[in-house]
Amino acid sequence: MEQVFAPWRIEWVKREDKNPDVEECVFCELPEREDARENLVVAASERAFVLLNNAPYNPGHLMVLPREHGGDYAALDDATLLDHARLKQRALDALDAAFEPHAYNAGLNLGGGAAGGSIDDHVHTHVVPRYEGDTNFMPVVADTKVVVEGLADSYDALHEAFAAQSDATDRGPKTPVALDFD
Ligand SMILES: [Zn+2]
Repeated sequence: MEQVFAPWRIEWVKREDKNPDVEECVFCELPEREDARENLVVAASERAFVLLNNAPYNPGHLMVLPREHGGDYAALDDATLLDHARLKQRALDALDAAFEPHAYNAGLNLGGGAAGGSIDDHVHTHVVPRYEGDTNFMPVVADTKVVVEGLADSYDALHEAFAAQSDATDRGPKTPVALDFD
């Protein structure tokens, strides 16, 4: 079996069966939905939010996204860039607390199809926790390794970790943990 580490090829998969009414941009739609746990939106700041990947490469694989719709990273304004970056820091802290991974890969898909992305019109940063031996004991199939089991458990663990951070407001598991950076 060829083993290729290419987490950027694993995009958030549109769940057409569960979300038949998602028509335009799923990344704009999800933070507006009522049940954050069902929609995997685990934390949010003023201008960004954290979404668990529903086809995770590894446990804890998440994405940090600006709320603002747009595919051009260079077009984001300073306030959005800063808020997005701070939320990325918080996401790494939460993953440390919840999963104690050995390392991380984190990056943007830019440029659409050539970068491996399929949802290229809304900027998103993948954060993939890495565990020693993770490419060895888990199967890699057709460039993707999918760990779908345990998403609800991952959500709960990360929700708890975000809620324990400073300046966090926890309104229960069905609401993203609100983080205030000001
Ligand atoms: Zn969007």
